[in-house]
Amino acid sequence: MNADDRITTESLVREIQAMADELCPHCDQPVSLEDALRCRAFGSKRRPKCFAGLADFLGESADVLDAQLQDYFEQRDCYRGAWEWIQSHNDE
Ligand SMILES: [Zn+2]
Repeated sequence: MNADDRITTESLVREIQAMADELCPHCDQPVSLEDALRCRAFGSKRRPKCFAGLADFLGESADVLDAQLQDYFEQRDCYRGAWEWIQSHNDE
């Protein structure tokens, strides 16, 4: 068991809602809920960044990073649940 086991979809949603109020240090734009969840997955919680900013920060191409994130979310119910919550939230 690792620390991630205590994370629930509900706790992730609360975290990313707080993170999404911040401006990306990379481009000064507000961070979206999707970007907040991506940053959360990569442990970049304190200074959330947009996807391009996160890729730049990690030194990965956007394609590689996107594939890694899809795998990560697939394996974790809490993240997949939060991702699905974002999609339904965006539709409202
Ligand atoms: Zn940015």
